[in-house]
Amino acid sequence: MSWGDGTRSVRAGEGPAVPGAPLRPSPVFAGPFHLGSLPPRTGGADAYARTEQPSLRDFEAAVGELDGGRCLSFATGMAAITAAVLACTGSGDRVVLPSDGYYTTRLLAAEELERFGIAVDLVATPEIGEFAAGGGLDDVRLVVLETPSNPRLDVCDIAAVARAARAAGALVAVDNTTATPLGQRPLELGAHMTVGSDTKALTGHSDLLLGHVSVADEDLYARVKGFRDRTGSTPGPFEAWLGHRSMSTLDLRLARQAANAAAVAEVLAGSPAVTGVRWPWRASDPSFGLASRQMLRPNGVVSAELADEDAVARLLAATRLWTAATSFGGVHSTVDRRAQWGADAVGPGFVRFSCGIEDTADLVEDLSVALAALD
Ligand SMILES: *Cc1c(COP(=O)(O)O)cnc(C)c1O
Repeated sequence: MSWGDGTRSVRAGEGPAVPGAPLRPSPVFAGPFHLGSLPPRTGGADAYARTEQPSLRDFEAAVGELDGGRCLSFATGMAAITAAVLACTGSGDRVVLPSDGYYTTRLLAAEELERFGIAVDLVATPEIGEFAAGGGLDDVRLVVLETPSNPRLDVCDIAAVARAARAAGALVAVDNTTATPLGQRPLELGAHMTVGSDTKALTGHSDLLLGHVSVADEDLYARVKGFRDRTGSTPGPFEAWLGHRSMSTLDLRLARQAANAAAVAEVLAGSPAVTGVRWPWRASDPSFGLASRQMLRPNGVVSAELADEDAVARLLAATRLWTAATSFGGVHSTVDRRAQWGADAVGPGFVRFSCGIEDTADLVEDLSVALAALD
């Protein structure tokens, strides 16, 4: 029998128990390691922490098992996405990126990739299925999907795009940050790479930056690892250890965050001060059908539209539990007015609510009071 999410969150990547060893390995703080008489890079021992070290291996084993592939960890989510793209492309290649996805990924395209002669097409998440089916990927090297997309929470059919991409000889990478490895397994759906910002829900305590790429194919693993080791975006041991420690509670955190999101989406939808509530697991949501088929479980990110910037400011002034902060997936409930970053093509009152793990009743009560202050 395969284990459930709670068991896997704790036990993923663990080897056999060794008597006298700690239940969880401690971080190993080292740059170089003793070589002794071993020739370096024979796989027999660690040599230098930019390429391998024990804390990184423990974290990567755990995340890779949840993703159903081999994981490479990076200092940030952007380092992971950069590696996924640059390890597989070169001058003259075409890459398709989501036009409605994480803003910095688009900046990466405009400010960096194009400079190196990589052509970028931007396609919106709800349109990528049709684009791929219509031959849009024919001369494309790599398509990056972000589903659910951040911040609008639109979804696309990973398996369908992966089939079209494979037929066209293109690679598929999925930014799985919002879903987390428990919420969606892109490698099983046919993607070549699943990429995540582990800064968000995977580690979930708002106290570190991390990212990862998991792959199913050994050649691709070697390609991405080579890129990481040569460009030097490996995380340090403390982050890897803290990430491993934090992900043990992913199942519990996601369950509470999703329960909070379900309640919060209803409170928002019932308020005359709010329009356009999005949560892919609300039966009336445009993402609902595909999300419930393709994804394994819900999470805590909800988006909605208030009247304007002033309405968001008044909501924040009236709440005690909803904290103004960017990022998402942490234990605190937060509100982020996206237009303040000048980034997403969203209205001035568009807000991403990230539900934390506080009590549902407290969040609902606090949000209801704050929304009433907008009348
Ligand atoms: C935050 C985020 C990233 C970037 O991750 P960092 O850890 O901040 O570098 C990439 N993609 C998505 C969807 C994100 O939310």
